[in-house]
Amino acid sequence: MDVNMKFNMYIPTKILFGEGKLNELGSQKIPGRKALLVISSGKSVRENGALARTEEQLKVAGVDYVLFDKIMQNPVKMTVMEGAALAKANGCDFVVALGGGSVMDSGKAIAMMVNNEGDLWDYAGGKTGKRLPLKNPPVPLVCITTTAGTGSEVDAGGVITNEETNEKIGIAGYEESFPVLSVVDPELMKTVPPKYTAYQGFDALLQSIECYISYFNNVMSDMYALTSIEYAGKYLPRAVKDGNDREARSGMAFANTLSGVAMVLSSTTAEHSMEHAMSAYHPNLPHGAGLIMISRAFFEFFIDKHVCDERFVRMAKALGMDGVKKPEDFITALVKLQEDCGVANLKMSDYGIKPSEFDELARNAREAMGPLFAGNPYPMSHEDCVEIYRKSYK
Ligand SMILES: [Zn+2]
Repeated sequence: MDVNMKFNMYIPTKILFGEGKLNELGSQKIPGRKALLVISSGKSVRENGALARTEEQLKVAGVDYVLFDKIMQNPVKMTVMEGAALAKANGCDFVVALGGGSVMDSGKAIAMMVNNEGDLWDYAGGKTGKRLPLKNPPVPLVCITTTAGTGSEVDAGGVITNEETNEKIGIAGYEESFPVLSVVDPELMKTVPPKYTAYQGFDALLQSIECYISYFNNVMSDMYALTSIEYAGKYLPRAVKDGNDREARSGMAFANTLSGVAMVLSSTTAEHSMEHAMSAYHPNLPHGAGLIMISRAFFEFFIDKHVCDERFVRMAKALGMDGVKKPEDFITALVKLQEDCGVANLKMSDYGIKPSEFDELARNAREAMGPLFAGNPYPMSHEDCVEIYRKSYK
């Protein structure tokens, strides 16, 4: 097997990992005096006690805060700008993001804009971003993840949608955009409903799978990605079946954090570009659900090309399959895991996606998030993308 023995690694985040670790937040070195405490617009962190526990810990740490509770499932630029304005008006000097990927990604974008003038898209890439250099570094960010998906608690990137241009793209990504401190406490994940546990878990898993076959893989990212795949294969069905299965929640939290590290070292592939196009046009579609819908056809494309057979064989083994002989066995293992998690039959049509959009979605994927196509282990044309959407359509 070809292994790339070169990599750069810089992940400056202090991670508190494990059940009950949120209780240690108050005794940590906190990177500011007044936080913008960012949460979602939903009810979960209020109802499950995570918000009250975080507020208590901030008090223990002697830190003041202002609450911002408007982040949506697929976060948009307007909300980021609103959060940054609130932080500026209240003199907040750092950001605490308590929630899933949307909240943490928004936290990264808000941290940029608290310290800089203008609009988020002045500093964004994609088709319409102005790509200006950031004048000042983002303010420090603390992440407390409440889900096992996205891996945002250990990476520097965030994904935000510009609702005016239908661009769902990566922003931030500066060395100062890494959280300075992250709490990964599986206790906070117990109340995630089965369906979302599956969507988020598959996001983590597919991130690791993509990093493992990525053109940018290396000996270090392989280590994180393979272990992440192994943990997700073992624990995701259990976490979906019983949210109170503590070992399974911890196992999935670990798989997710590892996927974040794998993304820092390697990169995801066009599967993520193609999904972001789907949920940019259909914001009700959860990121993980969109990835699951196209995953089979997406990986079959590379298996048919026989560009990394051994890698697919190793991943099928990591997913716990016995007697693996050929790369196609990976698809069998992936589909079985989707069946075991009750997500094998997700339908694009349930989210309003129509076959007539495939050309536009494929174009958007390449225009808005083109760089991830470089992660593909074999070139994928516009027509190939349309065909993957078509094969995945239900
Ligand atoms: Zn993802």
